[in-house]
Amino acid sequence: RQQRSELENMADLPSELEKELDRLDEEFWISGDKLKQIVKRFREELDEGLAKHHQNIAMHQTWVHHLPSGNERGTFLTLDLGGTNLRVCEITLHGHEKKGKEKTELDQKQYRLPEELKKGDADGLWNFIAEELEDFVKNKGLDKQYTKEKPMPLGFTFSYPATQARIDHAVLKTWTKGFDISGVEDHDVAQQLREKIEERNLPIELICVINDTVGAMIASAYNDPKTIIGAIFGTGCNAAYMANLSSIGKMKEPDRRTASAQSDKMAINCEYGAFDNAHRVLPWTQYDKQIDAESPRPGEQAFEKLSAGLYLGEIYRLIVLELADQGLVFKDQDISKLRKSYSIDTGFLSQVEDDDSSFFTKSRSLFRDLLNLSPSDVEIELSRRIAELIAFKRRWAKALGEILGWSDEEKREGEGPIKITSAEDGSGIGCAIIAAMELDRLGKA
Ligand code: BGC
Ligand code: MG
Repeated sequence: RQQRSELENMADLPSELEKELDRLDEEFWISGDKLKQIVKRFREELDEGLAKHHQNIAMHQTWVHHLPSGNERGTFLTLDLGGTNLRVCEITLHGHEKKGKEKTELDQKQYRLPEELKKGDADGLWNFIAEELEDFVKNKGLDKQYTKEKPMPLGFTFSYPATQARIDHAVLKTWTKGFDISGVEDHDVAQQLREKIEERNLPIELICVINDTVGAMIASAYNDPKTIIGAIFGTGCNAAYMANLSSIGKMKEPDRRTASAQSDKMAINCEYGAFDNAHRVLPWTQYDKQIDAESPRPGEQAFEKLSAGLYLGEIYRLIVLELADQGLVFKDQDISKLRKSYSIDTGFLSQVEDDDSSFFTKSRSLFRDLLNLSPSDVEIELSRRIAELIAFKRRWAKALGEILGWSDEEKREGEGPIKITSAEDGSGIGCAIIAAMELDRLGKA
């Protein structure tokens, strides 16, 4: 979130709209001091999560003990249940064997999650997943290549907060990202999935359940061993890192013994989307409050609701709708589509913000196709400026620099001592690598 005075001004707006933008600017702007205060509290909450159970930031144990050597190999199935899609992949890892060639091969199918499913029950969810899995496996003839005695290894990327007593076990604590499926919270998702695989008699064995952040970290480390954090800026937000066992004060003794037999480290899934659920430092706008109140789990995932992809489009929609209801924009047009919750996604925002087409024809067609609206020049300019206010996009490296105390030079480059790379297909490839490491550990590789 940034100060409007820093933004370029493409067209003049009538004074009543300028006034509205000033008001929004006030609401969304965060000072450097406030940013530092937030960071201080964030660090405290990370420490609290390591020291004790049942804190805002959960700091879940994952039983992933090593970064990969880069030489893991084999062929794996992976399932990735995210906030928007289900992906099924067949992944082959080549390790160091194929010099100069791709280290990984991936064949995937992506299915959009139906809206009803997100508000349905456990049976509906697992039947949907098992059906797509079966479909994928049979289409590729994998059911002929593998047997119940020698099954195909499967890794499951489950991108929700879960406690893990082992790597092939994960009890969902609470749904996030707008999901509200009954009968899964407080249950082991590995077990629920396994039952459906068995019902269908598929020659598949579930090896591990991981969080997408752990997958991103491991996938990135497979290529670059200097990786220390995996972070997701997607429908939701979260990160994982390799922690020293000695820093995890809350770990129970039997767990500590099991863990230290493996290594002195363990990946921690932070679940920092829940940062500041107690409302101590984050600045809430009226739009944030409305989104939280109308969500299936009010009071949860505070930081995520203020910043992640799922919600940015919704914040934007609420602002534009408010202006329309005041008769300031889209007068005499049908705004019924704009009234529909979550009708605008983050992609819309960034396309409007980055639109460099002449006369903003791209933005115009977005408005027409998605919302059935024909914006005037002023409405286009206003929409662009609101997108810039909310999305925090161009200056996030600068804000990171401010927090970490980078030099002016480093801030300008957007790159200080931290190098940010994107882990392509992290959820899938990372999961396959973790399955490979686990099979190796079990002597089944
Ligand atoms: C979930 C995390 C996940 C993140 C990014 C959050 O809503 O709680 O487990 O890593 O979204 O997908
Ligand atoms: Mg994902």
